[in-house]
Amino acid sequence: MTTFAVLADVHANLEALFAVMADIDAEAPGATIVHCGDVVGYGPQPNEVIDLLRARRAIGVLGNHDARAINHPLEMRFNPDAEAAIVWTKHVLTPASVAWLRELPERLEVGDATLVHGSPRDPLDEYVMEAGGATASIDALATPLGFHGHTHIPAYWCARDGAAIGLPIGGDAVEALPRSYVNPGSVGQPRDRDPRAAYLLWTPGGDGETSFGTLRWRRINYEIDRTVAAMEAVKLPQGLRDRLYAGR
Ligand code: ZN
Repeated sequence: MTTFAVLADVHANLEALFAVMADIDAEAPGATIVHCGDVVGYGPQPNEVIDLLRARRAIGVLGNHDARAINHPLEMRFNPDAEAAIVWTKHVLTPASVAWLRELPERLEVGDATLVHGSPRDPLDEYVMEAGGATASIDALATPLGFHGHTHIPAYWCARDGAAIGLPIGGDAVEALPRSYVNPGSVGQPRDRDPRAAYLLWTPGGDGETSFGTLRWRRINYEIDRTVAAMEAVKLPQGLRDRLYAGR
């Protein structure tokens, strides 16, 4: 069965996406690429990132930054750095990029999994970072598995006896358990104090009852200096450059 490479929060970071694509091609050639939104915002190469995802036939969902970049009617406050990046992004997006972003749904089912950016209850604006939100998210899913982004922090929540618990994630493949809510981490702006690009490989399989295949989180080094140089060239805020090195 085909493997899925699950990406989230690429945030217009082309260097990070190149490194992730190279890792996918080495680890899971032919994998289907899916994403959990926030393709643009913060980073310096929104059109190039969209072009690469299009070329790789990636499918996925709308994130809150994507929504703001295409004037989605959404009440949402952004901090000054994020807002400055959105203003710049809107200015540079090509009509083809805008059209691609406008096609992104807020939810997408892929086999036994649902993709959303924030949560099934509030796809564009709920940060699921603790057990209560994870439990509610799992209860709201129509599929055994859910993949999400938005927090930029890898996580593996699984419902046990009605409440979600956080399961360990590491470099090895682990079973994909039913009633799980899974964050691959962020490709383009990690926030778990590890600056390497994050994504995961999901290989469906298992017995379809207690197991839905395997999950394997990946962390990939990339040329942060090149992304930062591209951000400097277009005068994106200093704070957005610094956080790439810190991974926060
Ligand atoms: Zn994001």
